[in-house]
Amino acid sequence: MKKRLGLIYGGKSAEHEVSLSTARAVMQAVDFDKYEVIPVYITYDGEWRKGQSLAKPVETIEELRLKGNGESQKDSIHQFINGAGLPDIVFPLLHGTNGEDGTVQGLFEVLNIPYVGNGVLASSAGMDKITMKQLFAQVGLKQVPYVYFNRSNWKESRDAFIAEVEEALQWPVFVKPANLGSSVGISKAADREEFIEAVDLALKFDRRVIVEEGVDAREVEVSVKGNDDPVCSVSGEIKPVTDFYDYDAKYKDGNTELIIPAAVTKSVQEEMEDMAIRAFKVLDCAGLVRADFFVTADDEVLINEVNTMPGFTPTSMFPLLWKNSGVAYSTLIDELIELALERHAEKA
Ligand code: ADP
Ligand code: MG
Ligand code: MG
Repeated sequence: MKKRLGLIYGGKSAEHEVSLSTARAVMQAVDFDKYEVIPVYITYDGEWRKGQSLAKPVETIEELRLKGNGESQKDSIHQFINGAGLPDIVFPLLHGTNGEDGTVQGLFEVLNIPYVGNGVLASSAGMDKITMKQLFAQVGLKQVPYVYFNRSNWKESRDAFIAEVEEALQWPVFVKPANLGSSVGISKAADREEFIEAVDLALKFDRRVIVEEGVDAREVEVSVKGNDDPVCSVSGEIKPVTDFYDYDAKYKDGNTELIIPAAVTKSVQEEMEDMAIRAFKVLDCAGLVRADFFVTADDEVLINEVNTMPGFTPTSMFPLLWKNSGVAYSTLIDELIELALERHAEKA
């Protein structure tokens, strides 16, 4: 009896279209001798639309935009749960809020359905840059200095926070909403005036803001997969043509260069691998993570972040790093599904 694999894609997110491309690629890579695929499309409005079980991949991305009847998010999720044919296992191909932050993972925990990738804790801790950095600090991972505050602190004692930033950090700084990804709401500020603007922008996206010292460094990434015994891929460098790796560089201009393997020394590679594994373990990650580093001109390695559901199209860094480490896209998909089943079985 084939297992029914639910692919969940789309979502109320800036990465909706990327998620559709990922869904198509994953569907083409799934072993249909082992699985039937149930497409589950989440619209821009958050409506969950479950399709018919498929015995072969769809031909076009358009076929993935399943038709629905305009139900509210709440009613459609109710329908997803109560309607016939819940998947035996799901693969959430969602990024950002509600996809990568532990909330959808919590739904599958409650339903007792195995799901690919990180659990609730790792997803939410990985999404919250403040919590993530505090956990990294706990295991001694080197990172840039930072401070943080919330909206009401900022309203009440703005001057005190500006003083704190000037005391603790050097300009320029990076101002980020604590809970987001894709560089949304992030800006670089070179002085007090730009800083105030940057904070006002970041606070539009989240109640909490993190401010980091800007570092002049190359950005190098490592992919990790596994459960209790995670392994690392080769590393890759991203070279955006913009000032930093902002939203447009990620999704619009397509000029960002990926250099795989990254030109780093053996000791930098080893240090990144060691740090990536420690980061994976301290967040209790499962399945996969992409760990992102800053490598300075004198080879200092600082961890920037982990992404618990990294870009996953065949031309994204995460699968490309595995391809360059000898793991083909379809093998990777198969392994991630196996890891999900293994992790689920361990819970019992
Ligand atoms: P996201 O989770 O949205 O990807 P990041 O923290 O990775 O957020 O920041 C996005 C980009 O901003 C990074 O890829 C890098 O180009 C730049 N950046 C972020 N923080 C710093 C920093 N402290 N110093 C230098 N560049 C930074
Ligand atoms: Mg991120
Ligand atoms: Mg990033």
